[in-house]
Amino acid sequence: MKDIKIRSFPDKNYKAVFIRSTAMTIRLLHDVNSDIPMSELDFPEFYDIKLTGKCEGKCPWCYMSSMPDNNHYEVVSNLLKLFGPMTQNQRPFQIAYGGGEPTLHPDFEEILRTTKNLDIVPNFTTNGDQSNITAKVLQTVEECSDGVAISCHPHLVKQWKRALQIYAELANTKINFHIIISTPESVDYFINIYKFYKGLIDYFVLLKFSPIGRAATMPFQEEIEQEATRKLFSFLKSHKEVIGTLSDIAFGAHYYPDLAKEENASIGASIYQPNMFSKYIDMKDMTIYSNSFETKPIDNVFEFFRTKGICYD
Ligand code: SF4
Repeated sequence: MKDIKIRSFPDKNYKAVFIRSTAMTIRLLHDVNSDIPMSELDFPEFYDIKLTGKCEGKCPWCYMSSMPDNNHYEVVSNLLKLFGPMTQNQRPFQIAYGGGEPTLHPDFEEILRTTKNLDIVPNFTTNGDQSNITAKVLQTVEECSDGVAISCHPHLVKQWKRALQIYAELANTKINFHIIISTPESVDYFINIYKFYKGLIDYFVLLKFSPIGRAATMPFQEEIEQEATRKLFSFLKSHKEVIGTLSDIAFGAHYYPDLAKEENASIGASIYQPNMFSKYIDMKDMTIYSNSFETKPIDNVFEFFRTKGICYD
């Protein structure tokens, strides 16, 4: 795989350069003199893909309602069918596999290899489960994948810390932490993790609690979540004043409306709607969504791309 990939869609006034070694995507206007603003891509540069409903994490806030008895989905043949007919320009730079717990999928290694052979960089999220992480699987991760996102769930501290030790030993594997923010206490939990692991982790990805899936049954108070968001942004702003940058902080799609507010401009997050460049695919029924927190699908994924000119026989 080459270190630099370029995609370009003049009708969307979009051009992007992906630098694999730094996991950086630089977006440019295709024509700086044009009045056309950069707009939503027909062919996203990034996909979240759900490849299993199975997970042993049993988190009460699981917005995917994942359970130990749920099924794995057929992935390899669907990946080839879906992305095979696309040109390199139409294929994404990256796919982030999630679930459920993606490492439990019996085809996990083959999924990473197939993705790499399609010239797409595979990444994945894990709760730290090591039951399927053999030396052979780790070797495949090292060869094919560029990054792992570890979910730092408070009831799985032992697992995620052990997973950090394991994946940190792999050369060239970037590690991100995913942390769910729901209450002011969860902001304290994040701050403690951030202070301890800053400099050792590539990105701390902050995800807003969503009362969907199993999380819909949890007590949820919007005022408490708003208080948590205020506390979080207050910490980030004061931290930025001291350090000068928040380059290791990333936000889930649900934070976009908060980030777009003028009072939060100093945080300096992306001004683009995340949905413009990415989509979510559920391999259970091959449906495509704006993002993984959306409950209403856009369409069957093959129908979606048929309307964009891809021929699936
Ligand atoms: S680890 Fe993730 S997928 Fe598993 S139950 Fe918890 S939130 Fe759901």
